[in-house]
Amino acid sequence: MSEPDVGAYRRPDNLSELLTLLDRRPTSVLAGGTDLVVMRADGMVDRTQDIVDIKDVSDLRGISLDADGTLTIGAATSLQELAKTPVIPPNAITDGASLVGGWQTRARGTIGGNICRASPAADTLPGVLAADAQLELASTTGTRLVPGHAFFTGPGRTVRKPNELLTRIIVPASLGASAYLRFTYRLAMDLAVVGVAAHLDIKNGRCVAARVALSAAAATPVLAPDAADALVGTELDEPSIEAAAQLVLNTATPIDDGRGSRAHRRTVLPVLAKRAIGIALERAREGHRR
Ligand SMILES: Cc1cc2nc3c(=O)[nH]c(=O)nc-3n(C[C@H](O)[C@H](O)[C@H](O)COP(=O)(O)OP(=O)(O)OC[C@H]3O[C@@H](n4cnc5c(N)ncnc54)[C@H](O)[C@@H]3O)c2cc1C
Repeated sequence: MSEPDVGAYRRPDNLSELLTLLDRRPTSVLAGGTDLVVMRADGMVDRTQDIVDIKDVSDLRGISLDADGTLTIGAATSLQELAKTPVIPPNAITDGASLVGGWQTRARGTIGGNICRASPAADTLPGVLAADAQLELASTTGTRLVPGHAFFTGPGRTVRKPNELLTRIIVPASLGASAYLRFTYRLAMDLAVVGVAAHLDIKNGRCVAARVALSAAAATPVLAPDAADALVGTELDEPSIEAAAQLVLNTATPIDDGRGSRAHRRTVLPVLAKRAIGIALERAREGHRR
């Protein structure tokens, strides 16, 4: 009998069975399928691999806020649920979720899929880095936490091992607010030419901590530490924000590709950074905490 040329499809309803299946043989995780189906059709994913569909594992979905302010997002939570959540005010992660594709893509696509696909231009990733989120990876041998900024190793590549599942995104409590903006040539259904997320912690009118993260500006989403450091200690007045925004260029190493030129990306990045910091500041002043 000849070998089948496509792998088996399985849809467990509990995490333990799912992890056992992932451990057994090379298997593709299927969440919303908005990337995976295209990648399999294009030959980017080996079609002989089994597919394990995670949609029926309810532990992987949902958004919850602990009493200490820690936010937990299940990896299989849809981007639409995240974009519309009443659990937290608008922030860089929900801004990113609300910009992905059209509503059909957001209803199907998940934050875990957006993260594990690891596109340098993906819209939720700068928010994940700017929030200092931890990514929980589970396997049959246990779980480990990886900081968002250490998760991505290249375009489409992460530190996740083949038998590991991204289960949760854990976001620490915040003293401040955040925002994400991207630049696209069209207003809808386009990928970011560049994107910037800013997170500001503010105490007594002064910035006490900040993180700025960029998409489509390097081979992975990246933090821009010089820009963030320049904000800390300031009252977030216009000249301080302007100066910090310019410093994103110390980190940005964008390329020329079909979506934009390196030169244009470097022109747009400080402008977006200034606006993203401005929105985060406005949100913080309105009392948003995220
Ligand atoms: C029309 C269209 C427009 C789009 N526009 C945008 C856009 O504007 N911005 C943007 O960022 N993206 C965009 N995308 C890309 C896509 O929708 C997102 O990346 C989506 O979030 C992927 O999630 P998913 O659940 O569909 O993942 P899937 O396609 O199911 O999986 C994607 C990858 O992640 C892996 N994976 C998924 N979940 C897990 C998990 N929990 N643990 C381990 N591995 C996992 C899969 O094995 C696969 O390799 C668009 C896609 C389409 C089709």
